[in-house]
Amino acid sequence: MKNTMKNCYLSLIVPVYNEDRNIEIFLQRALKIIKKYDYEIIFINDGSTDRSEEIIKSHCQKNERIKLISFTRNFGHQMALFAGYQFAQGQAIVSIDADLQDPPELIEAMIDRWQAGAKIIYAKRQERQGETFFKLVTAKLFYWLINFLSETSIPEDVGDFRLVDRGVVEYLKNLSEKPEFLRGLVSWPGFKIDFVYFKRDKRHFGKTGYTLGKMINLALNGIIAFSTKPLRLSTLLGFFVSLFAIFIVVFKSVQHFVFGQGVWLPGWASLFFSIVFLGGVQLIMIGLLGEYIARIYKEVQRRPNYIIKEMVNC
Ligand code: UDP
Ligand code: MG
Repeated sequence: MKNTMKNCYLSLIVPVYNEDRNIEIFLQRALKIIKKYDYEIIFINDGSTDRSEEIIKSHCQKNERIKLISFTRNFGHQMALFAGYQFAQGQAIVSIDADLQDPPELIEAMIDRWQAGAKIIYAKRQERQGETFFKLVTAKLFYWLINFLSETSIPEDVGDFRLVDRGVVEYLKNLSEKPEFLRGLVSWPGFKIDFVYFKRDKRHFGKTGYTLGKMINLALNGIIAFSTKPLRLSTLLGFFVSLFAIFIVVFKSVQHFVFGQGVWLPGWASLFFSIVFLGGVQLIMIGLLGEYIARIYKEVQRRPNYIIKEMVNC
């Protein structure tokens, strides 16, 4: 393994999962913008099963500033980004998708904002093309929920397309927790932030690697890693439900024994409802506890975040 370029100015980190038809055009567009800087591009191949790896390697041979880290299997977008941060040498590090939904042309504006003193520059989506109504609504709901639950404020309409300063990367590398929700981890320390704005295009070729399952996983990881309020809320809910039950019993008893009023016969529907409803609430709360415990378990296991199969030009 040779370390070709040390301490360059700009690192581009690009997670890749089955993007063979996008890489060529991505490189054309990105290089046009970044070639004027002292740059490196690190592709992280997250277990692609198409020709992505082969194509990246052929570019690595032609240009030693193009580098490849290849995982043994699919470890997920967040882990691919994290590996990128761990190996990046630049003073400014830009994470960008390979499917051209994040326009490389925006990097110049990001560098301007960085030179003006911001440590994290987010690319904020003003318009999102080619995204389903479902994705737009669930994204909105997710950001509302996480900002309601968490003390770390996470900017809305911001994905993982951002420039971060070297200092932010050093902080990320020193974290001992699993980097499962980088957007939150990047926001947490309170570095000076700024925004650039763009219109998010459709993906160039192929289909999204973010299945519904992966999206739900990311959302849950984000909420659980950045808030323990759901646990508090479940305690409060239990408290109020019990209080309500006591109130009903007292109310009914007084009504019957003191005033001799009211119907004392238990209704089937209300009994059925309260049993099933409370059963459901209890299951949800146990599941919620389980989510936190599962995270503790994963942290305790201390498995590596990813396994590297091969590195080129790194
Ligand atoms: N990606 C990855 N691992 C995965 C899924 C996606 O490295 O398991 C990469 C993918 O190649 C792309 C970026 O992460 O460069 C964003 O993924 P995608 O475009 O599929 O997500 P979307 O834009 O639909 O949210
Ligand atoms: Mg995409």
